[in-house]
Amino acid sequence: MVRAGWNLLPAGQRFSLDACMRAPRFALLLAGFWLPASAEAAPVPALSATPTRSWVTQLFDSWRAPVPPRHLGGNLYYVGASGVSAWLFSTPEGHILLDTGFADTVPIIRRSVEQLGFKLTDIKLILSSHAHIDHTGGHAAMKRLTGAQVLASAADARTLESGGADDFLTWPKDTLLYQPVKVDRIIADGEEVTLGGTTLTAHLTPGHTRGATTWTMSLTDAGKAYRVVFFSSASINDGTRLLGNPHYPEIVADLEGSFARFKSLPCDIFFAPHGGQFAMADKFARHDRGDGIAAFVDPEGWKQLVAGAEKTFREILARENTLQKP
Ligand SMILES: [Zn+2]
Repeated sequence: MVRAGWNLLPAGQRFSLDACMRAPRFALLLAGFWLPASAEAAPVPALSATPTRSWVTQLFDSWRAPVPPRHLGGNLYYVGASGVSAWLFSTPEGHILLDTGFADTVPIIRRSVEQLGFKLTDIKLILSSHAHIDHTGGHAAMKRLTGAQVLASAADARTLESGGADDFLTWPKDTLLYQPVKVDRIIADGEEVTLGGTTLTAHLTPGHTRGATTWTMSLTDAGKAYRVVFFSSASINDGTRLLGNPHYPEIVADLEGSFARFKSLPCDIFFAPHGGQFAMADKFARHDRGDGIAAFVDPEGWKQLVAGAEKTFREILARENTLQKP
């Protein structure tokens, strides 16, 4: 999931996408928000409103359209939908699938894999960027269809096995829930996952979820090796507060560590759970026009993505710190 907006609406104002877009960033202050003088240690509320069910539904529905599958370079293929990514790594010993989208995007992935000439049942390992319904909601169905092993970090494994029930987000619970899936192997920070000569390295980058995982690999295309990063996401979803969050007390420390980690990763090419995070439409168009893998080489874009996410984090943190002061 991504952050829906960044506003707290004045009391009584109905939350809607339009209102969300119109409301000023500092609506919190304009709305006359105040803290009593004795509130020194009192936690501040989230600066952004918890989205409504209908807003979440509209957002999710906008990500479900099919897109043609693509060979991106080396043994890497795009098999996801318009707004939620899924990546296939083909190997002589079977395939690795990173993310499964929603339960109802599994048929899109299936069709994409088969259109590319692969057998779905050759998928042996299922990985994830982070355990949210839009990236792992399809895990249970995909595991049933393929018999593949599901691998996840310990923290995301708990969420996967609870079907999203233990998510710390304050969103309407039914928007977060999906079919629980048994995790077959826990992945530790720095652990390598290898199949048929392809190795993906896990970097635990918690914050967006407790077990969010960024994957890296060396992708060889036409004799040239590229350092590829699959971003976990690091946004702070609406309704989430950073300071004194009773559902996730370590969120600030986790995000601090994750931003340090992102900045340490060598990167020629980056991809992400949502197309909008890596300019998918533009890069796919350039790729299709004949640029090939060069369309994805974008080390500056990676730096900008991380810097933008970190800036938002620091702004929210600074504002919560200001509000928490007596
Ligand atoms: Zn998410």
